[in-house]
Parts: sequence; C-alpha cells; structure tokens
Amino acid sequence: MKEEILLVANWKMYGTKKEGIKLISAIKAGLKNLSTEGLTIVLCPPFTFLEKAKELIEGTRLKLGAQNCHFLPCGAYTGEISPLMLVDYCQYVIIGHSERRRYFFETDQLVSEKIKAALEAGLRPIVCVGEKQKKHKKEKEEEVLNQVKAAVAYLDNKKMAQLIFAYEPVWAIGTGNEADPSYANRMSQLIKESLPVNVPVLYGGSVEPDNVGGFFKQEMIDGVLIGGASLQASYFLKIIQKARRYVSQP
Ligand code: PEP
Repeated sequence: MKEEILLVANWKMYGTKKEGIKLISAIKAGLKNLSTEGLTIVLCPPFTFLEKAKELIEGTRLKLGAQNCHFLPCGAYTGEISPLMLVDYCQYVIIGHSERRRYFFETDQLVSEKIKAALEAGLRPIVCVGEKQKKHKKEKEEEVLNQVKAAVAYLDNKKMAQLIFAYEPVWAIGTGNEADPSYANRMSQLIKESLPVNVPVLYGGSVEPDNVGGFFKQEMIDGVLIGGASLQASYFLKIIQKARRYVSQP
C-alpha cells in the first residue's frame, strides 16, 4: 500500500474549449461517488484551456498543470508562456517531455533552465526523462541518469525535493507498448538513488486501465503520467479507481 499516488493527465495538443469542458465535466461527475483520498490528480490541458479548467475544478480535489513553460519570467519571446504567467492558473508544469525534446529540440541544458525558472516562479515541475530506444542496459541507464543529473544541475537539495520525475521510455509513449512494470521499477529506483533527496517518480508510456495495476504494485513507482488514456473520461476514471486499491485509506 502507498500513502499517496500521483496521477498526471497530459492532454497534449488535444481539446477545443468545448471538448475540454465535456471532458472535465465527465471526470467531475465520475468522481462524485469516488473517494480520492490519498490521490493527487493533476490535469494538464493545453494553455488555452487552463483558465476555464481552473474555474471548472473549483471545489474539487483536482489540480492543474501546464505542459511546458519558458525559462525566463518575461521577455521578447514571441509565442512563449512564462512560468510567472502560469502561476495564476496552475501549480504544476510538465518539463522536458520527450515530444518537446524531439520536435522542439529541447536539450538537457534548456530543460534544466526551465526547471529552475519554474521553481522560482512557484510551480512544481514534473520532469520527464527516458531513453529513446530499447538498447543495452548500461547505455540506457546512462542516458536516463544523464538527463536526471542535468535536470538538477542548478538546484540545492531543498529545491530538488520539490521535483517530481516521470520515467517515460520514449519507445513506450503512445505506442501501446508499455514497459515491463518491474523494469520501470528498477529504472525508478535508479533515478531515486542517484539523488541526494527523496523525490516521487512516476511511470509514463501507454498506461491504460488494464495495465496500470502492474505499475501501482511496484515499490519505487509513485504514480503514473497518462497521455492518450487521459483523454477519455471513462478510461481515466477507471485508472483512478484502480489507484484507490493501492493507496492506504484512512
Ligand atoms: C505521455 O504523454 O507522456 C504519455 C505517456 O502518453 P501515452 O500515455 O499516450 O503513452
């Protein structure tokens, strides 16, 4: 049994305002008869929906996060959103997602600057790390640990303790090919052991209601980051229901 389980929903670039309202309404309706004690549920919709989402989740235990932020509080950076702008709407921010690293060429250096800026603004970063390909054990461990090391480069222990890591092997994201839970557990342990402070580590990559229990059973995995399955209220609610079985109820 775990004391707390974190569930992070990454909606990616999906959802018009109308669709977002429908999705949050369905999640809220499903949660009416469910205890979320011991669960921290963070919805990360697109920027354009954060304000409305904030209004919709009022009075619930749901929390909000953004999917990205800039590394400065303000400046002449057309089209960007700073962490300082986000604190008006949410408490968390996903940083270094593999889609940002891949399609927007975000480097470990940039990721570490974003993490520092997010913390300074008062946001809690959810830092994504993971190897690109299934490869030799030593190589992938090195790839992941290098990302972790870079992520904390500018942080003292106090700041570091505010991070949440998401171990997301890139080959498992959106492929329907989830990692073996015991393998994800080992990688999470490795991440935890590489840091001087205790941080939660989530697993992400093709999580669905049918496979999520395997991850909750793992000692070193503190929750899950869910992409595709979080866009369907019924799937997401099933994942929440499963999580309740693995969290100690008061
Ligand atoms: C993700 O967006 O980080 C993710 C894990 O997506 P999916 O659950 O669809 O694989």
